[in-house]
Amino acid sequence: MRFAERMGRLTTAASFDMLARGRALEAKGRSIIHLGIGEPDFDTPAYIRRAADEALSAGHTHYGPAAGLPEFRQLIAATWRARRGLACEAANVVVTPGAKPVLFFAMLALLEPGDEVLIPSPAFPTYASVASFVGARVVNVPLDAARGFDLDLAALRARINSRSRMLVLNSPHNPTGAVLPRATLEGVAALAREHDLVVVSDEIYAGMVYEGESPSIATLPGMAERTVVVDGFSKTYAMTGWRLGFGVMAEPLARHMAALMNNSNSCTATFVQKAGEAALTGPQDAVAAMVAEFRARREVVLDGLHAIPGVTCDRPSGAFYAFPRVQGTGLASVELADRLLEEAGVVTLPGTGFGPEGEGYLRLSYANSPENLREGLSRMHRLLGSLVRA
Ligand code: PLP
Repeated sequence: MRFAERMGRLTTAASFDMLARGRALEAKGRSIIHLGIGEPDFDTPAYIRRAADEALSAGHTHYGPAAGLPEFRQLIAATWRARRGLACEAANVVVTPGAKPVLFFAMLALLEPGDEVLIPSPAFPTYASVASFVGARVVNVPLDAARGFDLDLAALRARINSRSRMLVLNSPHNPTGAVLPRATLEGVAALAREHDLVVVSDEIYAGMVYEGESPSIATLPGMAERTVVVDGFSKTYAMTGWRLGFGVMAEPLARHMAALMNNSNSCTATFVQKAGEAALTGPQDAVAAMVAEFRARREVVLDGLHAIPGVTCDRPSGAFYAFPRVQGTGLASVELADRLLEEAGVVTLPGTGFGPEGEGYLRLSYANSPENLREGLSRMHRLLGSLVRA
């Protein structure tokens, strides 16, 4: 079989590979602590599961409109106006199976071969993979590690030219847990307006902020019409396997995205959308409890990391990731992650899985129980401690 040239430009995320390797070792009887995969370890709250059961029994088992059920789009628009201050109506919302299709469709709909996409890096690997897949050129903008992985506006400006078309933002950030300050967003918005850039703003972790605020760039003057907000239910409501996400965007783009949905998925599963309605209208205490638990675990992880010689880590402000610096071990990230898995039985991700700027870092997900986090960190301590001494 001969494959299209573009398939060579698509990559798959390291997190799934490392998970599979960890599971294979477990199947052989090894004890493995999983700090790799980025999904909440909580069950979907019971009231949401019940709503899906009821929707199935009530016959919500048929095709629905490609862009999502009208009442659900309306509810999302009203909820995001209230929660995030977005100026949006139902016509601006497209419901998709998870957040990833919004990224995929936005790039398919907006990028021509040769267009440049600016990606602050390290970054969620799907951005560069899909941008390359559609023929665009990826331009990495190194995040400023010395300033808590803030986006350096001068570095961004220096990389903008007449081919620049799109900028991808992600705050709270995977893999670092950093949150972009309002002043940075204002600077980015000014550049986007000046150079006519579309901003794809991945706000999937906006429900998980531990201090301060994580505003949406779409709320800044002149930005709603040039921003695609990527969001969904996977993280906030512990619904990764349900596949429920959505985008908020200008109406003409929403119509194109609906056409892409029509030609690919037809629609998002209707009973899943009904569960999504329940998620938004039901009691939010389960979400608050999860966020409180993540906040407490963040301290467990930071305490454990800071105790390891040669390791430092910024305090993440959101999401459920820590991104420790491990240069002190003298090993490349990939080799270190391999040794942690093989010798210590701890799954982590090499920072380079998020771009070359991730060299010298590991990504840890703290979506695991405090007991497992402590055990994982003490195993890391033993291995890394011996490397730093050697
Ligand atoms: N965006 C970021 C930054 C993520 O970390 C993830 C999942 O890990 C996604 C998007 C994908 O979300 P979904 O599972 O809803 O497609």
